Amino acid sequence: LDQIQKVDGQIHAFLSYDVADALAQAEAADKALAAGETHVQRPLLGVPIAIKDVLAVKNHPLNCASKILGKFTSVYDATAIEKLKAAGAVVFGRLNMDEFAMGSSTENSAFGVTRNPWDTTRIPGGSSGGSAASVAADECIASLGTDTGGSIRQPAALCGCVGLKPTYGRISRYGLVAFASSLDQIGPFTKDVRDSATLLEVMSGIDHRDSTSVPQPVPHYHTALNGNIKGLKIGLPKEYMIGGLDPQVNAAVQAAVQQLQKLGAEVVEISLPHTDYAVATYYIIATAEASANLARFDGIRYGARIDGKDPIELYSKTRGAGFGPEVKRRIILGTYVLSSGYYDAYYLRAQKVRTLIRQDFLKAFEKVDAIVTPTTPTAAFKIGEKSDDPLQMYLSDIFTISCNLAGICGLSLPCGFTTSPKLPIGLQLLGKPFGEETILKIAHAYE
Ligand code: GLN
Repeated sequence: LDQIQKVDGQIHAFLSYDVADALAQAEAADKALAAGETHVQRPLLGVPIAIKDVLAVKNHPLNCASKILGKFTSVYDATAIEKLKAAGAVVFGRLNMDEFAMGSSTENSAFGVTRNPWDTTRIPGGSSGGSAASVAADECIASLGTDTGGSIRQPAALCGCVGLKPTYGRISRYGLVAFASSLDQIGPFTKDVRDSATLLEVMSGIDHRDSTSVPQPVPHYHTALNGNIKGLKIGLPKEYMIGGLDPQVNAAVQAAVQQLQKLGAEVVEISLPHTDYAVATYYIIATAEASANLARFDGIRYGARIDGKDPIELYSKTRGAGFGPEVKRRIILGTYVLSSGYYDAYYLRAQKVRTLIRQDFLKAFEKVDAIVTPTTPTAAFKIGEKSDDPLQMYLSDIFTISCNLAGICGLSLPCGFTTSPKLPIGLQLLGKPFGEETILKIAHAYE
């Protein structure tokens, strides 16, 4: 709390936090420890974890960094939050983000931008910018974010922390405000790989309240962290060596690859031939799903309302004033690609290409245990640099988006810095469906 007091005026990672509530939870953890409970039984006992403003925490505000939710307060805990609490965590604070998780820089928040702790003239990444910045600025031990097309891995890379997007279905999405339901996953931001494994283990598992959660047993991820990656095969996709890749990012990733080889991994070139179509495919599927999911914010059921002479006027006034420009852009795009006459040409086609992208990965994983790439083409850019150019902004997710389309798992971990200015660089590891153990093992051996 002292650290938040000291630095958050500059960083603005938090939208709000409740001191009394945090202290009460911490006191309860102290009492449990004094009564003989241990971290074996409750691995997160007393650990402060802050939450992206898109996840429901009972009695806490929930705004998705949007004006449309007004003074909305959650009436229940998301499953992931329930599990953190059961493991003893002190769940506190609401972290800034791009409105409804749409963006790559946290500049789309209705409540102001979050700044990168390494250089406060730069963006922290997005959409989980507050989640990454709060961990990087030592304002919490760990945080939760969500990743629909890179929103955990990209800000983790730009702020120099570890960010994990689990396999689709690994963690229940119950209590997560949906952006694109077939792509969204909850995941942890941590200072190291071991913490990432701990949080993943606590939050994973089947949940009858989310029919897309999968009845796959939850491994003890820690036991995989033994440093031994001898003989593992890691693929380097040739399609990721694109023109816009910053030379310093490229050099850091190449050095990391050499380090992995020194540790005994075998690195081979692979091909993911449909990579070029990932960004276009994503922006059709994600906007289509978003336009349907966001229909519920109508001024009747949740949050803010502006009255009108009839329901239609009420809806349009509320939505017109409540949603920011990027959210409106996506709703319009999404309703367009779903409209009759265009559905087959855009949405259906995108679904087919999505299958091809997934097949690329499944084929590659017949030959390799994991895939290594840069997380982002460049280090953190300046605030305002891309905010007027949505296409440039969309392209900054070029390395992270395919993972969500394929439903596989991925993580980003620090692999060096650029020089003047000194900014963190992220290494991305992609794993098979439910192959989190392998990417955590590799990341831990490298770290
Ligand atoms: N930057 C991407 C987008 O704007 C991804 C966002 C996300 O993962 N939530 O859609």
